[in-house]
Amino acid sequence: MSIALYAFTCGHLTIPFKSFLEGEEGLLTVPVPAYLLVHPKGSVLFDTGLNPHAVDPNGSYFDSIHPSNQIRVSTPELLNARFEQAGLDIAGVTHVINSHLHYDHAGGNSLAPDVPILIQKRELDHARAVGTAGGYVSADFETGQSFTMLNGEHDLFGDGSIVCMPTFGHTPGHQSLKVTTTTGTYILAGDACYLRRTLDDMHLPRFRYNDEQMLASLRALKALQQRGARIMYGHDPEFWETVPQAPVRLA
Ligand SMILES: [Zn+2]
Repeated sequence: MSIALYAFTCGHLTIPFKSFLEGEEGLLTVPVPAYLLVHPKGSVLFDTGLNPHAVDPNGSYFDSIHPSNQIRVSTPELLNARFEQAGLDIAGVTHVINSHLHYDHAGGNSLAPDVPILIQKRELDHARAVGTAGGYVSADFETGQSFTMLNGEHDLFGDGSIVCMPTFGHTPGHQSLKVTTTTGTYILAGDACYLRRTLDDMHLPRFRYNDEQMLASLRALKALQQRGARIMYGHDPEFWETVPQAPVRLA
């Protein structure tokens, strides 16, 4: 299937390294990725970066984020600006898929208004129960957009090219995206796998909802990797430097 895959960097986070890899010291600055997939049947976002309100460091948006999370994002780094810079039209987006509803993955949902959000039902249920706490900011995802709630694996266009793949454990309803293009299979891991080392060493981050589920998800990612899939790690700064950014196609 001919699918164009584009990557965007929508700001950075500086967070204690141990949050990403248990046992590490100091801080780690990581990218906030988002992706666009252009399929003959639709244009699909996978995650949307940070909320436009996060641009103002003195704004009330930050009241809802734990102070150990330093967000750095400027207006030109928001997803809509990234589209413009790449000569792409965010108004042409037909679907938004969220890996999960943490603020650095769903913050920019409102930048594609009137587009339905595809999310695992158990993730939405959990986020709504939590409200604003523990990485969730309800204003990010309670935007008035409609939700298409998924229960497990979901083949978006029925041709196997874009498949939502449950990877629970980071949160109750986290999902990754399996994308099959003419150049190979790409797994947009999201926070199921922050760093290359997470998968190489099967080394968990400090932040996790369920250890057993997270390890099962990592094993599933590893099996796909062994079959030749390219894993797009969720927040790996060194890996991310090797990823072509829009308007250059990743695939
Ligand atoms: Zn997360």
